[in-house]
Amino acid sequence: APVLQLTNIEKVYQTATIETVALNRVNLTINRGEFVSIMGPSGCGKSTLLSLMGLLDEPTSGTIEVDGRPVQSYSDKELAGLRNLKIGFVFQSYHLINDLSVLDNVELPLLYRPKLSGRERRQRAVAALDKVGLSARTGHFPSQLSGGQRQRVAIARALVGGPEIILADEPTGNLDSVMGEEIMDLLLGLNKTEGVTIVMVTHDIQQAMKTGRVVRFFDGSQVG
Ligand code: ADP
Ligand code: ADP
Repeated sequence: APVLQLTNIEKVYQTATIETVALNRVNLTINRGEFVSIMGPSGCGKSTLLSLMGLLDEPTSGTIEVDGRPVQSYSDKELAGLRNLKIGFVFQSYHLINDLSVLDNVELPLLYRPKLSGRERRQRAVAALDKVGLSARTGHFPSQLSGGQRQRVAIARALVGGPEIILADEPTGNLDSVMGEEIMDLLLGLNKTEGVTIVMVTHDIQQAMKTGRVVRFFDGSQVG
């Protein structure tokens, strides 16, 4: 079964006075091991799509299946596990905690794994930092790192639970082109060598062309 399947998804945001159709009849299948780019102008629904795929929000109508099972059929506990361990998030603005060290930031998702000892958590965090080339920076704080290094820490945090899927919302949007390319190469490598499925929102056509598939949105609908 596909790792993620969205069928006839609609998402409507309702405020006191305005109703916004953010996604309109979206059908999207993400297969294991794919690297998919999502493109489209600001406001077309890309972030909404990622938050639905990450099970952070629910569609107004339509179904989301994970590994062939509708999300509704998972227990709350299973869903928490999917969100925290199966799916890793990477954001444009990193979302690191500034008063935690690099190592502590990366360890955070493992707090959902009470069976792991402190020592095991630490080892896994170091291994994740090693994968992103930052094992020499474990004791630094986010403010002591470049943007590209901060994004590497965020990627290590996304990786530490051994996720099958990484959802990345403009991961290079705050980086200059050199650092952006480094992050892109890192994601391409994780997809290729670790088999991590990646869905990435990007405005950069050069980056999108390096991924396996480009899905374009306009005004809440897929246009290609
Ligand atoms: P993109 O990521 O492509 O810029 P978004 O998914 O953020 O697009 O937004 C899609 C549409 O939904 C936009 O019109 C946006 O204003 C609206 N929207 C997004 N989040 C909310 C929200 N929490 N409440 C109301 N409207 C929202
Ligand atoms: P932007 O692309 O506008 O900089 P981000 O990529 O930083 O936004 O974040 C995208 C959305 O995800 C925001 O609406 C934010 O509130 C939400 N978000 C950020 N971090 C988390 C998190 N750890 N868990 C759930 N939602 C988050």
